[in-house]
Amino acid sequence: MRKGTVIENQDILPPKSTIGIIMSSRKITILGGGQAGLQLACGLLHKGYQVKVVQNRTPEDIRSGKVLSSQCMFGQALQNERDLGLDFWTEECPTIDSINFVVPAPDGSGKKQVDWNGGLDRPAQSVDQRLKYPVWLQEFERRGGKLEIREATVADLDDYAATSDLTIVAAGKGDIAKLFERDLEKSPFGQPQRVLALTYLHGMTSRPDHSAVNFNLIPAVGEYFLFPALTHSGPCDIMVFEGIPGGPMDCWKDVTSPSQHLERSKWILDKFLPWEAERCRNVELTDANGILTGALTPIVRKPIGRLPSGRAVLGLADAVCLNDPITGQGSNNASKAAKIYLDAIVAHGDQPFDEAFMQATFDGYWNYAQFVTGWTHLLLQPPPLHVLKIMGSAQTYPPLARRIANGFDNPLDLFPWFAVDEEADRYLQQLAE
Ligand SMILES: Cc1cc2nc3c(=O)[nH]c(=O)nc-3n(C[C@H](O)[C@H](O)[C@H](O)COP(=O)(O)OP(=O)(O)OC[C@H]3O[C@@H](n4cnc5c(N)ncnc54)[C@H](O)[C@@H]3O)c2cc1C
Repeated sequence: MRKGTVIENQDILPPKSTIGIIMSSRKITILGGGQAGLQLACGLLHKGYQVKVVQNRTPEDIRSGKVLSSQCMFGQALQNERDLGLDFWTEECPTIDSINFVVPAPDGSGKKQVDWNGGLDRPAQSVDQRLKYPVWLQEFERRGGKLEIREATVADLDDYAATSDLTIVAAGKGDIAKLFERDLEKSPFGQPQRVLALTYLHGMTSRPDHSAVNFNLIPAVGEYFLFPALTHSGPCDIMVFEGIPGGPMDCWKDVTSPSQHLERSKWILDKFLPWEAERCRNVELTDANGILTGALTPIVRKPIGRLPSGRAVLGLADAVCLNDPITGQGSNNASKAAKIYLDAIVAHGDQPFDEAFMQATFDGYWNYAQFVTGWTHLLLQPPPLHVLKIMGSAQTYPPLARRIANGFDNPLDLFPWFAVDEEADRYLQQLAE
């Protein structure tokens, strides 16, 4: 498919024979037309449900707006999209074939202290959400879904809940997610742990070998990620800066224009990562909206939101489980959560979508997401000794490098050895034998 075009080809639908096999008159309203909301909505349509999506920004608003994410998605999350016929950019989008982890030498020599590359079993890809969401919104309508464009309030939610069998809130970082109470036990942070910036570029010098997420960890400064992606104007590269608050990479407050943003991005690389700066001699922004700065506080919320009427709604993805992007998991989580919710809804048949169902559905997701959250929290804090040992040893043991890399696709495989020092020692010992 060509970039950003409206989908008209009927062939991309899942085979007609499978549509509506389980016809259901059940009505489901989803607030939020992003990764999770639209993927779930299309999955439900496919199963014969009546689905409404309430979305505050029009396709054109999203298309012509600022970048929203760096949205690198790994094998399983991409497969979930493929299974629903939503993978319109597979051919066009560059693949990301490995993770290249680098720590600069502490002596300021401009050399690398740690440098390893772990191949991904299945390629990752990143499709600019400004490209993806407008097409998915149109595709959702084309498949028979009802799209309502409005900034929904809690009062609106009450109306939807009164007329729907199930109402789901997938509003991402939208304010309406505050309806869901913070889960104190699962939310250790009261403030952002990184200052974030994105820079979308054309003209980056490619790596000499295969493509990668270049993951540079600069102790006490922050992290820098770089990987290829697809945007409106074709293949591009995305820089992701994760600066430790108060440190030298927390440097965006005085930046007031896109060109200054680009200059500041290059300044960081010149100062800390000369091998990355070298690749940027001819870069230019993809567009004036190809930049973003901000910060978010990681938070897990209780999954059931109570409305003024007493009715309950169910939270999905970032609305109830928001992680810092340091591990690049948010869109992956959203895809996996949408799949878990879809399966739970279908398996529930004609039974009422009561609070027990809502809690059990979220718990099913949390069985997975707790590991992603745990891993992400671990990387946000000063690394414990065993994590330093693991990340350093991957340079000596290629199977370890490969395992860490593929942990981005399946974070469960990083446990318990990434989290528990005795387990890390045992695993490293095995590798040494
Ligand atoms: C800087 C940065 C880099 C990132 N990089 C990555 C990465 O590399 N890999 C990765 O997997 N994840 C990444 N993420 C996270 C990822 O983008 C999100 O986790 C993912 O988009 C969440 O999907 P979602 O469906 O929950 O929410 P969203 O995609 O945010 O969708 C929510 C939708 O709800 C709509 N909405 C909000 N409020 C309302 C309302 N009141 N009424 C109606 N509609 C509403 C919004 O407009 C939006 O369309 C990154 C995030 C950031 C900030």
